[in-house]
Amino acid sequence: MVLETLIRRSGLGDIYDKAVAGRRVSDDDGLRLYRSRDINVIGAIANVVRERKNGNHASYILNRYLNYSNICILDCQFCEFGRKKRDAAAFELGVEEMVERVRQDLALGITEVHIVGGLHPSLPFGFYVEMIRALKALSPALHVKAFTAVEIYHLAWLAKKTMPETLAALRDAGLDSITGGGAEIFSQRVRDLICKGKETAEQWLDCHRTWHKMGRRSTCTMLYGHVETLEERVDHLRRLRELQDETGGFTAWISWSFQPDNTELGGERATGWDYLKNTAVSRLMLDNVPNLQASWVTQGPKIAQVALRYGLNDFGSTMMEENVVSPTGTNFLMQIEEIRRLIAEAGYQPRVRDTLYRLLD
Ligand code: SF4
Repeated sequence: MVLETLIRRSGLGDIYDKAVAGRRVSDDDGLRLYRSRDINVIGAIANVVRERKNGNHASYILNRYLNYSNICILDCQFCEFGRKKRDAAAFELGVEEMVERVRQDLALGITEVHIVGGLHPSLPFGFYVEMIRALKALSPALHVKAFTAVEIYHLAWLAKKTMPETLAALRDAGLDSITGGGAEIFSQRVRDLICKGKETAEQWLDCHRTWHKMGRRSTCTMLYGHVETLEERVDHLRRLRELQDETGGFTAWISWSFQPDNTELGGERATGWDYLKNTAVSRLMLDNVPNLQASWVTQGPKIAQVALRYGLNDFGSTMMEENVVSPTGTNFLMQIEEIRRLIAEAGYQPRVRDTLYRLLD
């Protein structure tokens, strides 16, 4: 009753009514939520949707992250991961080395390997096909999730194939899912400022659409907290929601706040307040995406834990290796027991899941 009074006083009562009734919120509602300072009210409204969709548990996955190389032909202004071939910090992993790391982690119980890398100028397409085949050969139960849409276009260029032909060739080699990276913010104004030369929003969406129509799944993402406006965040979420209406192929949404240290773009780090609000607004806008996954690698476990009451229902991965965010000085690692403790303390039951969010325990 007290909560209801607070919600009515905040001026967001009509959005709360929509959430309770399972009705879709508009772009204008999304903007009003972003502009409001009643963060606890926004979280409480998002939690209505979170608990209806995901019940009283929060999940996590045992997986291994792998970066095959950080060598990249692009120079995204927000990125501190990509390197040129001549740089001392540039690296490449061979297929055998990757297979060995994943073999060891399979023995520890992982069910997924998650692979992304830079847009390498000279590794042949055959390298990627061999990588997927060799990893998949380790265990048919291992879910191989790899490549952003941006990498897929790069591989298509290397292979002299179309994007759909490239996806089909990788699927035939054993690729199970593609990753959601590279979406950043869809607005071309923003892309020209933070990742000039990268694929457009339409290309990113078309790659995921094609993959979904092949019967496969992927995740969708947002990189926020740099130069984007709140209107551009809402536009991004609506475009993801439209594709999900069309294909139903996104399993989850994940956001990362921009980590400015050591990047060309620079600037300030997004706050925990912004992360909680962005999470809650995304939960409300993306009414057709079944799961919201935490980004504790950028936010730290404590904010991710609080976000379980702002729309999140998944703690993500145990992340046995991470190279993309750590060069910006953001470095969190967590043990399974710590993830379980954080979930339980927030009042939810910790559950292990697979890549497709099926509960395993
Ligand atoms: S974000 Fe990706 S494509 Fe852009 S520079 Fe970094 S590694 Fe390369």
